[in-house]
Amino acid sequence: MGTHIQVELFSSDKTAADNCSRQVFDEMHRIDKLMSPYIPSSELARLNAQAHQQATVVSKELFDLIDRAIYFSELTQGAFDITYASVGYLYDYRHAKKPDDDNIKQSLDAINYRHIILDASEHSVKFRHKDTKIDLGGIAKGYAVDNAIQLIRNCGVNNALVSAGGDSRILGDKNGKPWMMGIQHPRNKNRVVVRIPLRDSAISTSGDYQRFFIQSGKRYHHIIQPQSGRPVDHTWSASILADNALTSDALSTSAFVMGTEKALQLINSLEHTEAIIIDSKGKMHYSSGLMPPTSH
Ligand code: AMP
Ligand code: MG
Repeated sequence: MGTHIQVELFSSDKTAADNCSRQVFDEMHRIDKLMSPYIPSSELARLNAQAHQQATVVSKELFDLIDRAIYFSELTQGAFDITYASVGYLYDYRHAKKPDDDNIKQSLDAINYRHIILDASEHSVKFRHKDTKIDLGGIAKGYAVDNAIQLIRNCGVNNALVSAGGDSRILGDKNGKPWMMGIQHPRNKNRVVVRIPLRDSAISTSGDYQRFFIQSGKRYHHIIQPQSGRPVDHTWSASILADNALTSDALSTSAFVMGTEKALQLINSLEHTEAIIIDSKGKMHYSSGLMPPTSH
């Protein structure tokens, strides 16, 4: 997944714990192989190559995740949209490459989650537009973290933390105390702007500092506004607390795209979901269920 994975679990049996963490890493690799757009043999790569020509049958697992992604597209009025990749694949952050205006214009119509046609009877996926491509980078890590937590539960472990990049989930607590989860300052990686005590909860952060390059003073990062095919410029980071990591992952990407006002409106309307947003002026905003920390 191109990200750092962290697993911490509390168990009195070291062999059992090692065995359990091995299962977790295997699961992470399995999901990566299934959903990586960069592995040509992955189901996702095959889908992107074929689905504009014919309905393509995929595993139930991939089908269900695409279905969940579309649920979040509808919930966020299209801010979360896995077809962003129709233009998104033209950016190469490692080599500081971006599409020019003409390239963006040519592919922009292909971005629209409504182009994805799902047939639940045979788990097939078809794209209505010839240039549509999908990428699950905004939701797959959360999904993987949830699967990992389920595996850990099945090992008989009651207290654990699993993180994949910006997506974390906590099972139970840390030796009777909550885990203190820090949110990084978007412009200073050595600074934590707030620490949140968590137990039995998930937290995800989407930031413009996670994958980016700077050209002519402008930051080009990996979270794309579906309407424009360009990086979102009104948010530095969006963090979401939720019951599970799939939800916190999808909603952190969504909140980042929606911007402070719309994002807080949505998050305040959802149960068991909170947000901390840092806008592009560096100002922090909290959802209604979070009391801002008192300053000294
Ligand atoms: P996250 O770190 O969870 O916010 O995920 C960022 C990743 O989500 C990017 O690297 C892309 O793979 C994907 N992505 C970018 N823009 C969008 C969007 N508008 N909707 C859904 N996924 C996106
Ligand atoms: Mg996300």
